Amino acid sequence: MLTAETAAAWLHAFAEKINENKAYLSELDSAIGDGDHGSNLARGVQAMEEKLQAGGLETVQDVLKTAAMALIGKVGGASGPLYGSALIAMAKQAGEDEKDVASIVKAGLDGIQKRGKAEKGEKTMVDVWVPVCEALKSGALTKEVIQNAVDGTKEMKATKGRASYLGERSVGHLDPGAVSSGYLFEALLEGGI
Ligand code: ADP
Ligand code: MG
Ligand code: MG
Repeated sequence: MLTAETAAAWLHAFAEKINENKAYLSELDSAIGDGDHGSNLARGVQAMEEKLQAGGLETVQDVLKTAAMALIGKVGGASGPLYGSALIAMAKQAGEDEKDVASIVKAGLDGIQKRGKAEKGEKTMVDVWVPVCEALKSGALTKEVIQNAVDGTKEMKATKGRASYLGERSVGHLDPGAVSSGYLFEALLEGGI
Protein backbone atom coordinates (compact mmCIF):
# COMPACT_ATOMS: atom_id res chain seq x y z
CA MET A 1 0.00 0.00 0.00
CA LEU A 2 1.18 3.48 -0.75
CA THR A 3 1.61 5.67 2.32
CA ALA A 4 3.90 8.62 2.96
CA GLU A 5 6.40 6.13 4.42
CA THR A 6 6.27 3.57 1.60
CA ALA A 7 6.35 6.31 -1.04
CA ALA A 8 9.51 7.75 0.54
CA ALA A 9 11.01 4.25 0.77
CA TRP A 10 10.15 3.65 -2.88
CA LEU A 11 11.92 6.83 -3.98
CA HIS A 12 14.85 6.05 -1.73
CA ALA A 13 15.22 2.62 -3.36
CA PHE A 14 15.02 4.29 -6.79
CA ALA A 15 17.77 6.72 -5.75
CA GLU A 16 19.97 3.80 -4.69
CA LYS A 17 19.51 2.07 -8.03
CA ILE A 18 20.33 5.28 -9.90
CA ASN A 19 23.50 5.74 -7.85
CA GLU A 20 24.55 2.12 -8.34
CA ASN A 21 23.98 2.35 -12.09
CA LYS A 22 25.03 5.92 -12.75
CA ALA A 23 27.96 4.98 -14.99
CA TYR A 24 25.90 2.38 -16.86
CA LEU A 25 23.09 4.88 -17.57
CA SER A 26 25.55 7.43 -18.90
CA GLU A 27 27.26 4.76 -20.99
CA LEU A 28 23.90 3.85 -22.56
CA ASP A 29 23.30 7.54 -23.23
CA SER A 30 26.77 7.86 -24.81
CA ALA A 31 25.75 5.39 -27.49
CA ILE A 32 22.63 7.25 -28.64
CA GLY A 33 22.69 10.62 -26.86
CA ASP A 34 25.11 12.90 -25.05
CA GLY A 35 26.24 10.61 -22.27
CA ASP A 36 24.75 12.43 -19.31
CA HIS A 37 21.66 10.48 -18.28
CA GLY A 38 23.32 8.80 -15.30
CA SER A 39 24.95 11.96 -14.00
CA ASN A 40 21.77 13.99 -14.61
CA LEU A 41 19.66 11.60 -12.57
CA ALA A 42 22.28 11.03 -9.88
CA ARG A 43 22.39 14.78 -9.25
CA GLY A 44 18.61 14.86 -9.08
CA VAL A 45 18.16 11.94 -6.72
CA GLN A 46 20.78 13.35 -4.38
CA ALA A 47 18.78 16.58 -4.09
CA MET A 48 15.61 14.50 -3.73
CA GLU A 49 17.11 12.43 -0.91
CA GLU A 50 18.14 15.56 0.96
CA LYS A 51 14.62 16.96 0.74
CA LEU A 52 12.94 13.69 1.67
CA GLN A 53 15.23 13.13 4.64
CA ALA A 54 14.45 16.59 5.98
CA GLY A 55 11.13 15.05 6.99
CA GLY A 56 7.81 16.74 7.74
CA LEU A 57 6.09 15.04 4.82
CA GLU A 58 2.78 13.65 5.95
CA THR A 59 1.03 12.46 2.82
CA VAL A 60 1.90 10.61 -0.38
CA GLN A 61 1.12 13.84 -2.20
CA ASP A 62 3.69 15.75 -0.09
CA VAL A 63 6.36 13.13 -0.76
CA LEU A 64 5.80 13.00 -4.53
CA LYS A 65 5.59 16.76 -4.87
CA THR A 66 8.77 17.29 -2.89
CA ALA A 67 10.56 14.72 -5.05
CA ALA A 68 9.25 16.39 -8.22
CA MET A 69 10.57 19.80 -7.18
CA ALA A 70 14.00 18.42 -6.34
CA LEU A 71 14.26 16.59 -9.66
CA ILE A 72 13.05 19.53 -11.73
CA GLY A 73 15.53 21.80 -10.01
CA LYS A 74 18.55 19.55 -10.47
CA VAL A 75 18.28 17.04 -13.31
CA GLY A 76 18.11 19.25 -16.39
CA GLY A 77 18.16 17.77 -19.90
CA ALA A 78 15.08 16.13 -21.31
CA SER A 79 14.63 13.68 -18.48
CA GLY A 80 14.43 16.24 -15.65
CA PRO A 81 11.24 17.93 -16.84
CA LEU A 82 9.82 14.56 -17.89
CA TYR A 83 10.36 12.82 -14.53
CA GLY A 84 9.31 16.07 -12.85
CA SER A 85 6.06 16.20 -14.83
CA ALA A 86 5.41 12.57 -13.99
CA LEU A 87 5.88 13.12 -10.27
CA ILE A 88 3.81 16.31 -10.21
CA ALA A 89 0.94 14.55 -11.95
CA MET A 90 1.33 11.58 -9.59
CA ALA A 91 1.25 13.90 -6.58
CA LYS A 92 -1.94 15.49 -7.86
CA GLN A 93 -3.57 12.09 -8.35
CA ALA A 94 -2.40 10.98 -4.90
CA GLY A 95 -4.34 13.96 -3.57
CA GLU A 96 -7.47 12.27 -4.98
CA ASP A 97 -6.79 8.74 -3.79
CA GLU A 98 -3.41 7.92 -2.30
CA LYS A 99 -4.08 4.19 -2.12
CA ASP A 100 -4.60 3.64 -5.82
CA VAL A 101 -1.10 3.02 -7.14
CA ALA A 102 -2.30 2.06 -10.64
CA SER A 103 -4.09 5.41 -11.09
CA ILE A 104 -1.17 7.32 -9.63
CA VAL A 105 1.32 5.77 -12.04
CA LYS A 106 -1.11 6.26 -14.95
CA ALA A 107 -1.31 9.94 -14.07
CA GLY A 108 2.49 9.99 -14.19
CA LEU A 109 2.47 8.52 -17.70
CA ASP A 110 -0.10 11.09 -18.80
CA GLY A 111 2.16 13.82 -17.39
CA ILE A 112 5.15 12.49 -19.37
CA GLN A 113 3.15 12.31 -22.57
CA LYS A 114 1.64 15.74 -22.12
CA ARG A 115 5.12 17.15 -21.76
CA GLY A 116 7.09 15.07 -24.27
CA LYS A 117 4.44 14.00 -26.79
CA ALA A 118 5.98 10.56 -27.22
CA GLU A 119 3.81 7.56 -28.01
CA LYS A 120 4.62 3.91 -27.50
CA GLY A 121 7.28 2.62 -29.92
CA GLU A 122 9.35 5.82 -30.14
CA LYS A 123 12.18 4.42 -27.97
CA THR A 124 11.67 6.49 -24.82
CA MET A 125 10.76 5.97 -21.18
CA VAL A 126 7.12 5.87 -22.36
CA ASP A 127 7.83 2.35 -23.65
CA VAL A 128 8.29 1.24 -20.06
CA TRP A 129 5.57 3.33 -18.42
CA VAL A 130 2.82 2.10 -20.79
CA PRO A 131 3.18 -1.67 -20.15
CA VAL A 132 3.79 -1.03 -16.44
CA CYS A 133 0.53 0.94 -16.22
CA GLU A 134 -1.32 -1.84 -17.99
CA ALA A 135 0.15 -4.45 -15.66
CA LEU A 136 -0.60 -2.41 -12.54
CA LYS A 137 -4.19 -2.00 -13.66
CA SER A 138 -4.64 -5.75 -13.85
CA GLY A 139 -2.60 -6.31 -10.69
CA ALA A 140 0.08 -8.22 -12.55
CA LEU A 141 3.25 -6.16 -12.42
CA THR A 142 6.27 -8.46 -12.36
CA LYS A 143 10.01 -8.14 -12.88
CA GLU A 144 9.54 -9.82 -16.26
CA VAL A 145 7.02 -7.22 -17.43
CA ILE A 146 9.51 -4.49 -16.56
CA GLN A 147 12.52 -6.29 -18.06
CA ASN A 148 10.69 -7.09 -21.30
CA ALA A 149 9.57 -3.49 -21.65
CA VAL A 150 13.09 -2.19 -21.12
CA ASP A 151 14.64 -4.77 -23.47
CA GLY A 152 11.98 -4.00 -26.08
CA THR A 153 13.47 -0.54 -26.62
CA LYS A 154 16.66 -2.06 -28.02
CA GLU A 155 15.32 -2.80 -31.47
CA MET A 156 13.27 0.38 -31.74
CA LYS A 157 14.26 3.37 -33.85
CA ALA A 158 14.19 6.59 -31.84
CA THR A 159 11.84 9.23 -33.15
CA LYS A 160 11.78 11.48 -30.07
CA GLY A 161 14.52 13.12 -28.03
CA ARG A 162 18.21 13.38 -28.76
CA ALA A 163 18.50 9.75 -29.93
CA SER A 164 16.18 10.55 -32.84
CA TYR A 165 19.05 12.51 -34.44
CA LEU A 166 20.70 9.13 -35.07
CA GLY A 167 17.73 7.69 -36.96
CA GLU A 168 18.43 4.06 -37.92
CA ARG A 169 21.71 4.13 -35.98
CA SER A 170 19.73 4.30 -32.74
CA VAL A 171 18.59 0.71 -33.38
CA GLY A 172 20.46 -1.94 -31.37
CA HIS A 173 20.85 0.13 -28.19
CA LEU A 174 18.70 0.24 -25.06
CA ASP A 175 17.06 3.58 -24.34
CA PRO A 176 18.65 5.07 -21.19
CA GLY A 177 15.41 6.66 -19.96
CA ALA A 178 13.63 3.34 -20.37
CA VAL A 179 16.33 1.68 -18.26
CA SER A 180 16.08 4.32 -15.50
CA SER A 181 12.28 4.03 -15.52
CA GLY A 182 12.73 0.28 -15.19
CA TYR A 183 14.65 0.97 -11.95
CA LEU A 184 11.77 3.10 -10.68
CA PHE A 185 9.31 0.26 -11.14
CA GLU A 186 11.66 -2.44 -9.86
CA ALA A 187 11.95 -0.32 -6.72
CA LEU A 188 8.15 -0.19 -6.54
CA LEU A 189 7.90 -3.99 -6.84
CA GLU A 190 10.68 -4.67 -4.36
CA GLY A 191 9.03 -2.35 -1.87
CA GLY A 192 5.96 -4.60 -1.96
CA ILE A 193 3.81 -1.59 -2.81
P1 ADP B 1 19.14 14.74 -22.65
O1 ADP B 1 18.68 13.92 -23.82
O2 ADP B 1 18.60 16.12 -22.68
O3 ADP B 1 20.61 14.67 -22.44
P2 ADP B 1 18.78 12.71 -20.63
O4 ADP B 1 19.97 12.06 -21.22
O5 ADP B 1 18.81 12.93 -19.16
O6 ADP B 1 18.44 14.07 -21.36
O7 ADP B 1 17.49 11.82 -20.92
C1 ADP B 1 17.33 11.11 -22.13
C2 ADP B 1 16.08 10.24 -22.03
O8 ADP B 1 14.91 11.05 -21.99
C3 ADP B 1 15.88 9.31 -23.21
O9 ADP B 1 16.58 8.10 -23.04
C4 ADP B 1 14.37 9.10 -23.25
O10 ADP B 1 13.96 7.97 -22.50
C5 ADP B 1 13.84 10.33 -22.56
N1 ADP B 1 13.15 11.20 -23.51
C6 ADP B 1 13.69 12.10 -24.35
N2 ADP B 1 12.73 12.74 -25.04
C7 ADP B 1 11.54 12.22 -24.62
C8 ADP B 1 10.16 12.47 -24.93
N3 ADP B 1 9.80 13.39 -25.83
N4 ADP B 1 9.22 11.75 -24.27
C9 ADP B 1 9.58 10.82 -23.36
N5 ADP B 1 10.85 10.54 -23.03
C10 ADP B 1 11.82 11.22 -23.65
MG1 MG C 1 21.54 12.79 -22.31
MG1 MG D 1 21.94 16.22 -21.97
